[in-house]
Amino acid sequence: MHTITFLGTSAGVPTRFRNVSALALQPENSKKWMLFDCGEATQHQIMKTSLSAYNLERIFITHLHGDHVYGLCGLLASKGMQRSESALEIYGPEGLREMLGCVMHHSQLNLPFDLKIFEIDANSSMRFEDFRIDVVELSHSITSYGFVLTFDDKPGRFDVEKAKKLHIPEGPLFAKLKKGESITLPDGRTVSGTDLVGPSKKGARIVIGGDNDNPLLFSPYAPFDLMIHEATYTQKDFDRLERKFKHTTAKQLAQAAQKMGVSWLILNHISPRYDKNGRISELLDEAKRYFDGRVDVAYDFMKIEI
Ligand SMILES: [Zn+2]
Ligand SMILES: [Zn+2]
Repeated sequence: MHTITFLGTSAGVPTRFRNVSALALQPENSKKWMLFDCGEATQHQIMKTSLSAYNLERIFITHLHGDHVYGLCGLLASKGMQRSESALEIYGPEGLREMLGCVMHHSQLNLPFDLKIFEIDANSSMRFEDFRIDVVELSHSITSYGFVLTFDDKPGRFDVEKAKKLHIPEGPLFAKLKKGESITLPDGRTVSGTDLVGPSKKGARIVIGGDNDNPLLFSPYAPFDLMIHEATYTQKDFDRLERKFKHTTAKQLAQAAQKMGVSWLILNHISPRYDKNGRISELLDEAKRYFDGRVDVAYDFMKIEI
């Protein structure tokens, strides 16, 4: 199971209950973890969890609006103070290198670790240990990306007891059977690996969206086991706004998720107005009207496993 911890779930500005955007993903059996977006004070949020900046290996930035990126310099500086020497990779839109380079230069921030900054292109694909990330260009007031993570399928369990009962000698023959191949034993019997290996486990496919007003842009990669996407407003509130911003409503997200075959939908990047007077349920109720699967509204330090 991969573990996801929401470190900041507010849109635009922090509230007393929610910090601005950041999300941690720790893959199964890994001490290392990845951060998606890094709003101001993300390092404080990290300190309130069992995660440590020391083991942070990669950061992905959806877009360069302040509520998604102003925490980066502080986090880098603190990681440097911890004498962390393992390399850190940061992936984000064009302009990220210049933005960080400028601050680091003028504040003489010299890091003890190797900082690798990658500016990503729309519709590119990145391969990591046991997963792939596809970059989806979104619709927002500045360049904004979403990430589709696809974990590799896991091979089924090899039935050692059954193999031993069949008097198959351990060693290279076991290895062949584990791959599902057929072998011929010295006594002439043929054994097929498919009889000894259980069904493989499908790797999870997860969407982590940046700010966006068109969630259907993810549809080429559907269906999804989990979709984490902004739902800044309810439709009613959005319709009343005098000045419209390029964000998604709970209704719009739920309808898109229903179309794309999402198993579990999590509404994120919540407008501060819903923190008052128990209004958060308005978002959840609206999403539930248009989406049949499991749906939740994210909150800070919400921890899920998938
Ligand atoms: Zn935002
Ligand atoms: Zn934005």
